Amino acid sequence: MTHYPHLLAPLDLGFTTLANRVLMGSMHTGLEERGDWNRVAEFYALRARGGVGLIVTGGMAPNAEGGVFPGAAGLHGAEDIANHRIVTDRVHEAGGKIAMQILHAGRYAYGPDCVAPSPIKSPISPFRPTELDEAGIEKQIADIVTAARRAREAGYDGVEIMGSEGYLINQFLVAHTNRREDRWGGTVENRQRLAVEIVSRVRAAVGADFIVIYRLSMIDLIPDGQSWNEVVTLARKIEGAGATILNTGIGWHEARIPTIATSVPRAAFSWVTAKLMGEVGIPVVASNRINMPDVAEGILASGAADMVSMARPFLADPDFVAKARAGRAHAITPCIACNQACLDHTFGGKLSTCLVNPRACHETELVVTKAAAVKSVAVVGAGPAGLAAALTARERGHRVTLFERSDRVGGQLNLAKVIPGKEEFVGLVEYYARSVNETDIALRLGIEPDAAELAAFDEVVIATGVVPRDPLIEGADADHVVSYVDVLRGKARVGSRVAVIGAGGIGFDTSEFLVTRGHPTEDRDAWLAEWGVGDPARLRGGVSPEGPNPPPPARQVWLLQRRAERLGKRLGKTTGWIHRAGLGMRGVQMLGGVRYDRIDASGLHVTIDGEARVIEVDTIVLCAGQEPERNLARALEAAGIAHHVIGGADIAAELDAKRAIDQGTRLAAAL
Ligand code: NAP
Ligand code: SF4
Repeated sequence: MTHYPHLLAPLDLGFTTLANRVLMGSMHTGLEERGDWNRVAEFYALRARGGVGLIVTGGMAPNAEGGVFPGAAGLHGAEDIANHRIVTDRVHEAGGKIAMQILHAGRYAYGPDCVAPSPIKSPISPFRPTELDEAGIEKQIADIVTAARRAREAGYDGVEIMGSEGYLINQFLVAHTNRREDRWGGTVENRQRLAVEIVSRVRAAVGADFIVIYRLSMIDLIPDGQSWNEVVTLARKIEGAGATILNTGIGWHEARIPTIATSVPRAAFSWVTAKLMGEVGIPVVASNRINMPDVAEGILASGAADMVSMARPFLADPDFVAKARAGRAHAITPCIACNQACLDHTFGGKLSTCLVNPRACHETELVVTKAAAVKSVAVVGAGPAGLAAALTARERGHRVTLFERSDRVGGQLNLAKVIPGKEEFVGLVEYYARSVNETDIALRLGIEPDAAELAAFDEVVIATGVVPRDPLIEGADADHVVSYVDVLRGKARVGSRVAVIGAGGIGFDTSEFLVTRGHPTEDRDAWLAEWGVGDPARLRGGVSPEGPNPPPPARQVWLLQRRAERLGKRLGKTTGWIHRAGLGMRGVQMLGGVRYDRIDASGLHVTIDGEARVIEVDTIVLCAGQEPERNLARALEAAGIAHHVIGGADIAAELDAKRAIDQGTRLAAAL
């Protein structure tokens, strides 16, 4: 039986054939800037061995002014070409194909030398760009063409020209950023001139037998974005200029509508790509929030695209395609679209990796090999840290027993999965449960082993997690004061006016849970309507001028913290704004600089800016952080039994699944 017949069908491009319809979308990992080209090559080659039809690299700068940040990687000369050759050779040896993305950031370039069609600063950059003159525009085109020619010299199978997400080419396309009155601005034809010139000159430079992908912004999601007519007109011109494939771009980086976060429904924007089908003769690629083979297959089977782009899923699992082909989609490590270890790292200047796969971008350094001597390993606690440790230890050939005191695996992930917008955690927990079941790991649910029982094992790993912190507020023992754990487990009665104490990740999540009715992420149309996204044929840029239109909140919530700083400041760099906007849309009052004085029947007594007040609520939910659960670790210490402590049991502060999984994997890789 052929699994995923549409997804795994070859794609004939005339001069070359792709093995299947899977494009690994461009991701900036930071690997290229580190200069370890063996590591870069192994990263891509592993994905090629896993069966991806066509890989697209992270964006390469065509020149210094166009780099996303100073020092961004590019193909600037012979040395760069030789380095990139290491990558393309390794990918080809693995049977893959690889295209290099050329990314000119325009006014998004993070530096004082940035250039743009008009000198208008972006809301997400401190730098005002210099307006390009005629010679400057010619230089940008020439540099992009040179980069494409060098890509061919370096052995790439093609290039992707980045024309979306609000970067330089996209900036020329719309009046929002292009106020020019010369032949590069004003009319639609003039605004589209740069895109068309670039594609036709690149095609002329690289010859006919080279893949040229153009990433077309199909819905800008900004005011004054392109109309649908403009998008279709441009698509046809780009085809005429010689592009081989049209990839989809969704939304500018400055758009205030989430496009790839976990709260975005799966395949939320494939309907936009579907509108372009039939308008051009070249293959069209759908993108954004496609993370499983069935989602991709559904898009292709419905005729909404000729190919699908998935990026982050290949950080999560390099063998995505091979597993789909083998009918083992359930064994694919799922990307949960959290951004925590990939995009948040990129924007923090750190090397990308993956929350569910700490080996991503660390392929040559975090190596899981067969153990020299098989040991008996006890892992206590089946949360993310314990699961990662148990599965990695088993992979290495150890005999593993996994103890869990509750009746299921997953630990805190089981709390995350009930939050509206975090439904991907359901699949993650199922993946872990199945992975454990598929092995001979001895899973002992409902068991809390003691020191005596653990003494029999060669290695003992304590992953007992955390307990909620008691914020020690006078009156907190009242019945209307509850822990987030009981709220999320459905064990606490919550009224209609609620104060949430503590505005970390869990305070935000719990507030979301309390104000949201149902699961908007599971209803694409409702989600689009809520964020004010509409058909670009009706609404320029695809956004409603009235903005978001959320349903009324389920409750009135006050979210509080002691720190006198903006709430949510420490949440994920690329997702914090979505959490803040989501709660803001549902009327959550967010207050910082709060002193908690006491709790009584009238509500929560606080002092803010030296002024005492009562927040009149019927329920108070404690989300004041965590403490490590180390009772068992202490007992082992007292008994003199050697052990390792990982995850929240090790450090509860800023505990998250990313650190827990990384720590569990690394420990087990060394046992
Ligand atoms: P947290 O991030 O450490 O936040 C704890 C909150 O409680 C803070 O707002 C803190 O702010 C407050 N607090 C601390 N001690 C307090 C005390 N004694 N009395 C009153 N308030 C106190 O912990 P968390 O929210 O429990 O989250 C745990 C971890 O889970 C997070 O760090 C995160 O990594 C992960 N997580 C992440 C996400 C996400 O969106 N990425 C979502 C959920 C969980 P003040 O001290 O200013 O009051
Ligand atoms: Fe996906 Fe999160 Fe991994 Fe990024 S860190 S690839 S979003 S699971």
